[in-house]
Amino acid sequence: MTGTAELERRTAELLAAHPPATTDRLDFLKARFDAGLAWVHYPEGLGGLGAPRSLQVVVDTALEAAGAPDNDARRNGIGLGMAAPTILKYGTEEQKRRYLRPLWIGEEVWCQLFSEPGAGSDLAALGTRAVREDGGDWVVNGQKVWTSGAHNSRWAILIARTDPTVPKHAGITYFICDMTDPGVDVRPLRQITGEAEFNEVFLTDVRIPDARRLGGIGDGWRVAQTTLNNERVAIGGMRLPREGGMIGKAATTWRERPELRTHDLHQRLLKLWVESEAARLTAERLRQQLVAGQPGPEGAGMKLAFARLNQEISGLEVELRGEEGLLYDDWTMRRPELVDFTGRDAGYRYLRSKGNSIEGGTTEVLLNIVAERVLGLPSEPRTDKDVAWKDLAR
Ligand SMILES: Cc1cc2nc3c(=O)[nH]c(=O)nc-3n(C[C@H](O)[C@H](O)[C@H](O)COP(=O)(O)OP(=O)(O)OC[C@H]3O[C@@H](n4cnc5c(N)ncnc54)[C@H](O)[C@@H]3O)c2cc1C
Repeated sequence: MTGTAELERRTAELLAAHPPATTDRLDFLKARFDAGLAWVHYPEGLGGLGAPRSLQVVVDTALEAAGAPDNDARRNGIGLGMAAPTILKYGTEEQKRRYLRPLWIGEEVWCQLFSEPGAGSDLAALGTRAVREDGGDWVVNGQKVWTSGAHNSRWAILIARTDPTVPKHAGITYFICDMTDPGVDVRPLRQITGEAEFNEVFLTDVRIPDARRLGGIGDGWRVAQTTLNNERVAIGGMRLPREGGMIGKAATTWRERPELRTHDLHQRLLKLWVESEAARLTAERLRQQLVAGQPGPEGAGMKLAFARLNQEISGLEVELRGEEGLLYDDWTMRRPELVDFTGRDAGYRYLRSKGNSIEGGTTEVLLNIVAERVLGLPSEPRTDKDVAWKDLAR
């Protein structure tokens, strides 16, 4: 298996053949992908070398030190964090070769067409229909909602109902949807922050060739589990330095503005600082476990901690700043390309973190997952498991 020395050698070779100072950004990223140094744990030919995931840091550190461009991962969080591992696990060879390179480079941004007005926590109840035309293309009709970044995306991961006559989990199929199809209508949804990061997406006679089906017909729920487990890790398991993320902002304000300090705020800041550090180290442990394979339900625990801490810390920061904390930088409707927690003011962080306990599975639903699948506690009563989807009350 490829080790540290081999990765260092290959990285040095890449830098020598494509000096960052004189190489076009996209050309450099393409060369990096082709050298297997994009995500080193991916297979050869698909941007990796089959190396341990933990060695990615060897490549990243050397490239950063050399001033090489990165793939601006935050712009394509859904693509990198969720679509890519799902395509890797369930895609055909042709699909992997077509989609992974432009995805990693950032040429093609992805979004996630899962939630619907009547199917959020109970995602398996979804009603968007995909009907196959004489063994050819699939024709999709329905409405999706809360679709982050749909306005910037070239492709979407989509789950749709292909068989309404079987129980809800069984009749779902997973597709790759072309967001430039004339039947895709993306409309902004404005959030509490004033921005419209997400959208409602109406799908009217959208045509999807069968070659863009991911996994088997009716196997979409199983495929979607890979996406959802990776989503929770992507949200909750980010690599952060000490005092990275929101606690760093609050601690900096504390240090720089002694006039704002009170005894009560001091106690709360210390408690949150310790909890943030514990969560950061637990996330590191989770990433180490990932070396051994796909994430499981443990990611739900990290995502829970991340949501609670972000909300408590941003609330503390607003309080710490007193009246100034109530100011807000910009209420004009914007269509941001990414969520920027650290580059904005405390008011933004406070408002945006409200969504943290909803996106990627609500806190209540994740607690159920931890209770049932991690702790082995009795499951919630589920009366609709054996009923055909078409016979469910909606
Ligand atoms: C910022 C943001 C970005 C998002 N981006 C995307 C995206 O890109 N793509 C996408 O497909 N979706 C996206 N979502 C949607 C998100 O996944 C859903 O909002 C979420 O799954 C909850 O579904 P819902 O909104 O329909 O709420 P509901 O499911 O209607 O839940 C309402 C309330 O009931 C509670 N509840 C529901 N079921 C249970 C239960 N069994 N036990 C206890 N309590 C329960 C919930 O916790 C919640 O408090 C995003 C959401 C947000 C906030």
